[in-house]
Amino acid sequence: MILYDPKLTAVYRDYGILLPISPSRGDKILRFLRESGVFWETFDLPGAACRLEVPEPVISRADVERVHQADFVAALYQGGSGLSAGLIEAWELRDSQGRPNRYAPDQAVKPLEDLFAQVLGQIRGTYLAARLALTGDRPPEPPGRAPGFCYYLGGGMHHGRYDHGTGFCLLNDIVIAARKLQAEHRAERLWIIDVDAHKGCGTAELVQFARARGELGPGQDLGNLSIHMAEGWPLDAETLRNAPPDRAPRIPADVEIPIAPGEEDRYAEALGTGLTELETRFPAPDLAFVVDGADPYEHDGLPSSGLLRLSLAQCMDRDRLVFRYLRDRGIPSAWIMAGGYGDRAWEPPAHFLAALADPSRPNSPADDP
Ligand SMILES: [Zn+2]
Repeated sequence: MILYDPKLTAVYRDYGILLPISPSRGDKILRFLRESGVFWETFDLPGAACRLEVPEPVISRADVERVHQADFVAALYQGGSGLSAGLIEAWELRDSQGRPNRYAPDQAVKPLEDLFAQVLGQIRGTYLAARLALTGDRPPEPPGRAPGFCYYLGGGMHHGRYDHGTGFCLLNDIVIAARKLQAEHRAERLWIIDVDAHKGCGTAELVQFARARGELGPGQDLGNLSIHMAEGWPLDAETLRNAPPDRAPRIPADVEIPIAPGEEDRYAEALGTGLTELETRFPAPDLAFVVDGADPYEHDGLPSSGLLRLSLAQCMDRDRLVFRYLRDRGIPSAWIMAGGYGDRAWEPPAHFLAALADPSRPNSPADDP
């Protein structure tokens, strides 16, 4: 099934933020699926909460504090200047001299602080996607080999770090959702498979901190894999120079797969090897999150993702590989749309979902390998 809530799609220009993030990406994906004649059961967030009988608020402040530093969370919830400062840092709206960076506050038609509600909504979506996947509904699959699957057209704030936001990510929806599922004992073991172009630096930090502080219960774990550009943000020289050795982005994921420029042809093989390593080190999980960024796509519009340039076919190979890997092991999965910039960022997830829903399409992930 698909989870989508157009009301939670931030139109960044409304806040004066000048980023190439298309507000209509989810709409374009759904339109493509309709025009392709494939059917997906689709929920908005209230519909999903109602179906799952999840009471509001779905995500509480305590859920956020379970993962992020208390003072940082308090500043955000208090609003005012603390919240503004947190948002400006996360979206990098000022340079080191305090000058606007990709930011035109005089063009804003909405207060910047309103973005916080959008962020909380994205966390809610990621959590609900996981809950929907755990209900066991599925794409058309042969009986007996159809673990639950939900694709959320939102979320993926994998740069959200312990005590601050960065890389357009204020808070880390993936780890917040994962830890909430564990606290509720709906899933004890989880995997986070991050195939966004950028290293899932906040996720790696938060998982390591939770482990080091003994916050995971008996039998609980979070195994994480990140396959990403070997160079460029957040692994560029300046960001690394400013990072203490025990903080993101220096902390590696459990399975860390850097792909150097020009190595696109080895991407699928490296991902397959990484999944095998993840499985070797961590027992089969109750649920996997797949952070399915489209920014490795060669037509992505963000300059900082240009060091990895997968073709549409290679993006499909990537998604097909992860999907089959999880399906064949009976592992439910919540897919989070994550990064993707410019006018063509809708294409990789749209083609993947179309092929998944219609096994008769060529290269469908749902057909047999
Ligand atoms: Zn990214």
